Amino acid sequence: MKIHSEVSQQEGMRLRKNTSQQGFMLAAIVNSSDDAIVSKDLNGIVTSWNRSAQKMFGYLAEEMIGQPILKLIPPDRKHEEVEILAKLRKGGHVDHFETKRVTKSGTIIDVSLTISPVRNGRGKIIGLSKIARDITEKKLEQQRKNDFVAMVSHELKTPLTSIKSYIQLLLRQAKKTEDHYGTNALSKVDEQVKKMTTMIRDFLDLSRLEEGKMPLNKSQFSVQQFMDEIVSEAKILLAEHNIRYNSCNDAILNADRDKLQQVMANLLSNAAKYSSKGSTITVLCEQVRQKVKFSVIDEGIGIDTEDQKRLFERFYRVGGEQTKNISGFGIGLYLCSEILRLHNSIITVESLPGSGSTFSFSMDIVDNNL
Ligand code: ADP
Repeated sequence: MKIHSEVSQQEGMRLRKNTSQQGFMLAAIVNSSDDAIVSKDLNGIVTSWNRSAQKMFGYLAEEMIGQPILKLIPPDRKHEEVEILAKLRKGGHVDHFETKRVTKSGTIIDVSLTISPVRNGRGKIIGLSKIARDITEKKLEQQRKNDFVAMVSHELKTPLTSIKSYIQLLLRQAKKTEDHYGTNALSKVDEQVKKMTTMIRDFLDLSRLEEGKMPLNKSQFSVQQFMDEIVSEAKILLAEHNIRYNSCNDAILNADRDKLQQVMANLLSNAAKYSSKGSTITVLCEQVRQKVKFSVIDEGIGIDTEDQKRLFERFYRVGGEQTKNISGFGIGLYLCSEILRLHNSIITVESLPGSGSTFSFSMDIVDNNL
């Protein structure tokens, strides 16, 4: 009996030693981390504050421990804390969330936060741990790139507009004098200029979106007229494909017409780009209760399930043999989904590799009886 209790005493001491060693090790890791590591209780009161937190936010541990974390949150972002707490109380975890925080000197910094619940031995959430990384420099770099892209795109627009008008002028003249060679060549140039204009517009839109500055210019318009225009334009631009379309029932939409046209044009040009010449592209426009559902269906290469999940990300392009010679920047679908998101709509894709793809979205019909 005695031997047994001595053994368990020794075992207990060993365990305690191990646990305290682990504790020291963890503390050393936390202290030497380049990221700010902070813990707080469920009332948002700071309970620990590492050296990098001190460097990042300017407060000493003595100044922060026991103080509300709200001290670091800019006034216009106070709601974040409530939302995060609600999510974590349900057992969730907030990963790489980009936001802004305010330092002791009042400077606003960009941070990426990872927040996890801290549980006691019985699994009950007793607090939260926050890992913050200063991404101010990264954000500035992004901003510089954005400004550059916006400036270049803007500068390219002016000469392109002038090229476009001269082509129109020459084209008219070539047609008048029945110069078939000239007409043909100028039509091709015109097509390429249109492509370039679209690319430049997409780049400008991309930088506007990044800045959160893409205003919608909404108006009410007839969906039937809108779709008829889109399809007749597509029939000219995508002449090597067979466009199938049965006019849609009329309804009134309240949307940014130009942006919606941009979405449709993008889906149609993708349908042609990723399918073989001579195949059919079907455009559907169906009324489902108080909504109009638009679909663009192709018989092209299709997209596998893994790529479908990432298709609407900025710069995402599907790799592989079939797509390697097809040019593009991977921003078209990102812009479509963002434009639709601004209209409270969601773009969806259904696809089977080798059989084709269907891109769809719905828009609310304006209730004329209101
Ligand atoms: P881009 O066509 O310029 O690369 P998008 O953002 O329009 O950029 O499309 C992203 C990617 O999605 C494309 O690179 C392509 O791999 C895939 N994709 C888009 N539309 C289709 C389609 N209709 N069929 C097959 N793949 C498509």
